[in-house]
Amino acid sequence: MEKIVVPKQNYNDKKMKHDIKKLLSRYSDILYHTVIGYSVEERGIDAIRVGTGEKEIIMHGSHHAREWLTSVLLMDMIEWYAQQIKEKETYQSVAINELFDKVSIWIVPMVNPDGVEFVQTAKSTPNRHQANDKIKKYQEAWKANVRGVDLNRQYPADWDTIDDRIQKPAFANYKGPAPLSEPEALSLYSFTCAHNFLYAVSYHASGEEIFWKYKTEGALLKEAAILANKLSILTGYSLVAPDENPSGGGFTDWFLTEIKRPAFTIEIAPYVGPRAVPLKYYDHIWRENCYVGLFLAKYAVDHPNA
Ligand SMILES: [Zn+2]
Repeated sequence: MEKIVVPKQNYNDKKMKHDIKKLLSRYSDILYHTVIGYSVEERGIDAIRVGTGEKEIIMHGSHHAREWLTSVLLMDMIEWYAQQIKEKETYQSVAINELFDKVSIWIVPMVNPDGVEFVQTAKSTPNRHQANDKIKKYQEAWKANVRGVDLNRQYPADWDTIDDRIQKPAFANYKGPAPLSEPEALSLYSFTCAHNFLYAVSYHASGEEIFWKYKTEGALLKEAAILANKLSILTGYSLVAPDENPSGGGFTDWFLTEIKRPAFTIEIAPYVGPRAVPLKYYDHIWRENCYVGLFLAKYAVDHPNA
């Protein structure tokens, strides 16, 4: 059967929506789709559920515009997992279709569709919202949404104490006027609060690292450490020890401190600096990450007290 998601190409919201439509028709009994909210430029923020189980996991990508290869990776995972369920393949001697009767993985592949559009095509227009005619020179390095707010500095976890040297809209690192001031972050926040997710994975780029700790303590620290070590072995990525006073505001920071369940920020690809990850790294990235969802799903089933 011809593959739907073609990973080694530029990828934006339009292409993704086209693929989602095809995936939903091919795997109608396995995948479910919903829109969790709308971006500043009113693009629907898509969420796809793989499986029908009661235990829920969330994975998402492209909070940061230039990191759009994380959306490709997640879309590729959706297709591969759906195919494995349909063909009743096994993972570590467990039938994958039975695993997904017990677990659902919710995937939000592109949290920041407007930003991705700008990085890829310059069609989305941050200057319309920011009156900054020099904005185009930041196109390649753009991380923020179109209003110049860094969506991964928007979550209510020690937001007040985030380094606020950047006081106005910018291509990166501006935390915004208030927590959850941006519709993209608010959509993911509300969606997450309305569910009972056991684990969360935030995909970012680059550096081949996993952030997992933030200010975690006690039983959660223990559980998160076990999972972080296993994810490190699975991906080959190194674990990051946070600073003494880590800066908050990220989805993972918020999930750990407020939802009080393990959460991981996984940075794909060798460090590439302030630009998109080159497509030549994709095959590696896929091999390193394709089992992440299956691993967490199986772990959730094997540890019923979690
Ligand atoms: Zn990022």
